[in-house]
Amino acid sequence: MTRTAYLDYNASAPIRPQAAAAVAHALTLVGNASSVHGFGRRARACLEDAREAVATLVKAPPSAVVFTSGGTEANNLALRGLAQGRRVLVSAGEHPSVLEAVDGAAQVPLGLDGTIDLARLAEMLAGDPQPALISVMLANNETGVIQPLDAVVALARQHGALVHCDAVQAMGKIAVDMTDLGVDALSVSAHKIGGSQGVGALIAAESLALAPPLLRGGGQERRRRAGTENLPGIAGFGAAAALAATELDDAPRIASLRDDLEQRLRGLAPEVSVIGGKAPRLPNTSCVAVPGLTAETLVMGLDLAGVAVSAGSACSSGKVAPSHVLRAMGLGEAEAAAAIRISLGWASAPADVDHFIEAWGEIYTRCCAARRLQNPAA
Ligand code: PLP
Repeated sequence: MTRTAYLDYNASAPIRPQAAAAVAHALTLVGNASSVHGFGRRARACLEDAREAVATLVKAPPSAVVFTSGGTEANNLALRGLAQGRRVLVSAGEHPSVLEAVDGAAQVPLGLDGTIDLARLAEMLAGDPQPALISVMLANNETGVIQPLDAVVALARQHGALVHCDAVQAMGKIAVDMTDLGVDALSVSAHKIGGSQGVGALIAAESLALAPPLLRGGGQERRRRAGTENLPGIAGFGAAAALAATELDDAPRIASLRDDLEQRLRGLAPEVSVIGGKAPRLPNTSCVAVPGLTAETLVMGLDLAGVAVSAGSACSSGKVAPSHVLRAMGLGEAEAAAAIRISLGWASAPADVDHFIEAWGEIYTRCCAARRLQNPAA
């Protein structure tokens, strides 16, 4: 069998077997969770168990969990539902589902290390008396950089602003405690933690109006998200969340695989830069660039060798535009176009890192040789 290494967990983690089993079981349940008969009540019980598991993982009450079709919908629901009468401030490194959710959102710049410019946020808050809605992600999907949410929340409180946090990439990789964070709303997604694709949740206190809801025409999810719930997807999300709660202990193992990978890359190519490496980062993510070696060449070459990584952001991989996140960190177009993201997770093993290094090293050597042929004086 062809040797492969899947190192693209931030795009989508492989489904955990327990989550796949929960999905398969829920597919066999008959009935609609809104029906009052026994079939409906059994479907409802399955749904509420999953709600409880997701709520437990982020330390929120189950009544705060609104199941959605994924992180994208959760972000849209939060931004559109909470923006009423408020101006919207988002960090420049947000996922497009935050950046593009409402018209006219102002972007707060990032510093060179990838964290939000807090001084600028303070100025923007102080510069306008209209209450704000601030949206800042907990961890970035491309660089893994963890944002100083405590400082963002402290500033928000001084100015009567609401805070939404996209925790899609942080959930399951670092502890996400909604009470500790002090945010008003939090977005999460199942397929980043080993659940299935197409399901997520917005977590926001029941007392917080999400108006207008994105979807109308049904009383589901406490009237906050109309439509029959995706029970199999939600059941799998619950199973993955229950595992993630206990398996955060795996983070040091994953961090040591990631650190080993970066160290070996530096051994092969001392000119390699680790983007966001100066800020606190998720344990599983590495964003690296070698000047002159394009991400396109690398992603395609690695794919031929059976190794899966991303160029730029996961959701926009496939399109070759330079990443807005890396540009917001002050990287030039060429450096941004050289960045690849390697992301590990629950099933990653040392052999995956070995395979990546071997394949990367071959591409790098070939490119160096080609450059010498083109420019023998260099
Ligand atoms: N937010 C972040 C930070 C992401 O990385 C992603 C997906 O990659 C999303 C939101 C969107 O989540 P979903 O794929 O569940 O729509």
